[in-house]
Amino acid sequence: MQAMEGEQRVVVVSGAGISAESGIPTFRGVEGYWQVGSKNYHPHELATLSAFRRQPREVWSWYLYRRGVCLRAEPNAAHHALVRLEQHLNERFTLVTQNVDGLHGRAGASREQTYEVHGNIRFMRFDDVGELDPRLIPEELSTDWARGRQVHDDEINYLRHACGVLGRPHVLWFDEYYDETRFRYDSTLRAAEAADLLLVVGSSGTTNLPVQVAERVSERNIPFIVVNKDVDSYFVDLAQHSQTGAVLIGNASEWIPVVVDQLIKAM
Ligand code: NAD
Repeated sequence: MQAMEGEQRVVVVSGAGISAESGIPTFRGVEGYWQVGSKNYHPHELATLSAFRRQPREVWSWYLYRRGVCLRAEPNAAHHALVRLEQHLNERFTLVTQNVDGLHGRAGASREQTYEVHGNIRFMRFDDVGELDPRLIPEELSTDWARGRQVHDDEINYLRHACGVLGRPHVLWFDEYYDETRFRYDSTLRAAEAADLLLVVGSSGTTNLPVQVAERVSERNIPFIVVNKDVDSYFVDLAQHSQTGAVLIGNASEWIPVVVDQLIKAM
């Protein structure tokens, strides 16, 4: 990698693949599915506001199970390496993560430079009573949640507002829209416009904002690095068709520390 002079800015987009080696399943394999009664649901069916309106207990049970998986997982070498890059670049670094698992923050990523554009599974919100700020899900709710276990009546009460309204997970669902207040939409696009290098890791490219980031960056012909275990990803395709794109096929925990070392030397 050539030395890059001046005040270059780096944007990193991370997806579920960066946390796969921490033991958090992506939405792709069979582990992503969730059984309710005799029916098996794909995440794209359950991670929606309409599913929550129809069957809030089932959706909460799935989220409380996944919250437990995320809280028991530990950040891996890829999360830690990105923290080193942030500490080297400071405000010239922006991390846009699709992950709701909070592992970047637990590795040491700062709140200021990390945009959790799909929310955080440890938090809940009370949109229905007009409360904008997410609250931490009460610790009384166990993190040791067996797969398939349904939330009980006494537990669901921890998820209610004082007025009785049921809260919802603080995530962006597939049938919802990004905004700035909760999901840093405008800030993310501004960071993409100002970027001098984009690194995308562990994402298939099925969600809107990360795709917009990559497209804006690739139009400007700036360096664009994609790390993915699989060649079958929208971002791999985009990088392969871009003059300034580079594709590294393999595990995030192996590639990201190497890429970060090179960037730190170059910037
Ligand atoms: P995805 O499941 O659609 O794709 C994951 C990508 O990661 C795939 O392209 C896969 O090839 C790649 N991958 C898997 N293991 C890898 C590894 N070890 N190293 C490098 N790459 C690897 O996930 P997505 O694109 O992030 O988005 C889908 C949605 O799923 C998002 O909205 C996200 O919020 C949500 N999600 C989040 C989590 C989490 O927070 N950890 C987990 C599952 C899904």
